[in-house]
Amino acid sequence: MTGRRPLRSIWSSRFSRRTLLQAAEVAGVAAAAGGLALYGRNRAADVRTPGICRICTMHCGIVATTRGDRLVRVEGDPASGTRGFICHHGYALREIVHASDRLRVPLKRDGAAFREVSWEQALSEIAGRLNEVKAKFGPEALAVQTGWPFVRHPLVHLLHRFCQAFGTPNLATVASLCEASLRMGKALVAGSNLTPDLRRAKTLLVWGANPTFTAPPFAHLCAAMAENGRTLLVVDPVRTELAAKATLHLAPRPGTDLALALGLAHVIISERLYDPAYVEAHCAGFDDFMVHAALCPPARVERVTSVPRESLLRAAHLFAENGPAATWDGLGVEHHENGVETVRAITMLSALCGYLDVPGGGQLVRKPGARFWDEPLPQLYRLGTPEPVPPPVAKKSIGYSEHPLYEVFNRQAQGMLFARAMLEDQPYPLRALILIGSNPLVTAPGAARLRQAVEKLSLLVTVDPFLSESASRSDYVLPASTFAEAAVVAAGEDDAKVARSGLVTEQHQSWPDWKIVFELARALGLGKYFPWTSFQEALDAPRVPFMQDAEHTPRADTAPPGTPPPRFSTPSGKLELSSPLMERFGYFPIPDWKEPAERPGPEFPLYLMTGPRTRQYINSQFRTIPSIASKLTEPCVELHPVAAKAAGVVDGKRVTVVSPHGRVTMQARVTDGVHPEVVVVPAGWASASANQLTDPDRRDPVSGFPALRSGICRVEPA
Ligand code: SF4
Repeated sequence: MTGRRPLRSIWSSRFSRRTLLQAAEVAGVAAAAGGLALYGRNRAADVRTPGICRICTMHCGIVATTRGDRLVRVEGDPASGTRGFICHHGYALREIVHASDRLRVPLKRDGAAFREVSWEQALSEIAGRLNEVKAKFGPEALAVQTGWPFVRHPLVHLLHRFCQAFGTPNLATVASLCEASLRMGKALVAGSNLTPDLRRAKTLLVWGANPTFTAPPFAHLCAAMAENGRTLLVVDPVRTELAAKATLHLAPRPGTDLALALGLAHVIISERLYDPAYVEAHCAGFDDFMVHAALCPPARVERVTSVPRESLLRAAHLFAENGPAATWDGLGVEHHENGVETVRAITMLSALCGYLDVPGGGQLVRKPGARFWDEPLPQLYRLGTPEPVPPPVAKKSIGYSEHPLYEVFNRQAQGMLFARAMLEDQPYPLRALILIGSNPLVTAPGAARLRQAVEKLSLLVTVDPFLSESASRSDYVLPASTFAEAAVVAAGEDDAKVARSGLVTEQHQSWPDWKIVFELARALGLGKYFPWTSFQEALDAPRVPFMQDAEHTPRADTAPPGTPPPRFSTPSGKLELSSPLMERFGYFPIPDWKEPAERPGPEFPLYLMTGPRTRQYINSQFRTIPSIASKLTEPCVELHPVAAKAAGVVDGKRVTVVSPHGRVTMQARVTDGVHPEVVVVPAGWASASANQLTDPDRRDPVSGFPALRSGICRVEPA
């Protein structure tokens, strides 16, 4: 990556006049104007505007060409941090914005069909029904749930404000099942989220992640690790493209990653491969951890994980002796019943070897001494709000009693428990749900139960640019503008006051998400909390701390003035190999390997992994966009030739995957690129939803994340 900006600086790239001029040169354009530099090409009517693709969290720089109210072309911006790269989703932005199946006007359910209504009617009726729910069941009977488009979205703190003004603690974002438990696990060890220093690392450990599909602008950096004498270690039950290039690929059984991490720790400690000076200076709880890691010797780890003992030993030596090493862990680590514990154990490998907060290792997102609310522990803890602050909500959020640390770290409800609250009134009734850019009927575990649950709601509202599966079952559907039509913020600037105008005018009668929330608040009589006429105004309003939790604030925030901040923002100020915070919440303080409750047996002999991203799609989105949909027209379940033979399954034929919770039928792809005991079912297909097979009650006790990648199943010819 020599000569390129590191990952973190890419996040915080800014457009300057100079970079725009560079972009103009590259595009063969002679002149650039000031401000946002709208500069024409040959056709006078064409306007080129730099912006950011927000389809995924890579936030690639783009240049959009518009003609009137039409987006006619999208290209990568060579002057941006992502240097001109965009993927097929970015190129498809024009199709997405102008798709023929975009929602055009608000819809209201009328029996089995929808009828068109005005915005005024829709908002006034929704407000009336929400107030009825509030009067009958209490304000906490409303939940708001956002999806993938809201990842790192600046509206999140305003949604918290909306919920608090209404009186409900139940805002859930995609954090309920994506990334948040990675942040929690790292923060429990290091007091901060961590990012890999790809540029300076001598070794990269990629664990349960597939950057080729999930972080395409940086995939080449990961792939290049195996070259020039550097080391690439990949841990994944699937031989991904990156794994095929790796120095060493370990393929454990799903859900056994914690045993593997503890086994690596045991080798690193017992063979004295760790950095004793770093451990002495910066780690707390080493002796206890050492005793515990010794419970996972290589022979046991081989038995549990299926990773050969020799590979375990080699991986430990490569990691410890070829430092500094950076780690890139992903959702493949999170989606198990021991996800947070596994993230902690993996982070501890870096702590043992002295790879945290050093060049080439894991970089702290939260700098020492940062105030808690300025530089939040997990990113969604970025909470400030303008005055007047709505009165605090007395009720605890749904999920708090089962997963209190999730709430402490994220200040959100755990959306995985919403279905139970709808069906069983636990911990109290949930009767109204507003989905914003979220499609849980396809993307959340236990699809069948969730369908039953939404039938019990008094009101289901979906805000979305398209009629998703969840929208199609709603009482009202409100047409949202895409990010291309609304004010956007630059990557890494979520809280900064940098709203820009959209790249293209709002299509049809769609509204930007912020306007829908502000207008609904006004219809509910909560206008004093939303006095702004633009998103920019709301971002500009001075903020005060909001929803702070002094009880759990780390020492850095509570130490007497003048005390130098500790290097790591944990309660002890050190890297915690044994966590007092975990202990305080009733968990064992050291990562502890236990066999999962659900394992393959005679009826369901295979492990079921759902959810890994395919190259073509992001979750359930864009299935009707021609240039995207043509790349993959039907879902394929992947299984090993050994498993296929045992099940009587033939490559290319249709098969049924059966779990204790349901069944789906799709085409079989027989490949030796998956672990022999594993079946991989892609997610996001409404027609054959992987979540018919998943169990919403198998959750990580710390984060509440569903065990989407370590279920059990069998496969039958269809
Ligand atoms: S990787 Fe693709 S979808 Fe993600 S921001 Fe970049 S262009 Fe958009």
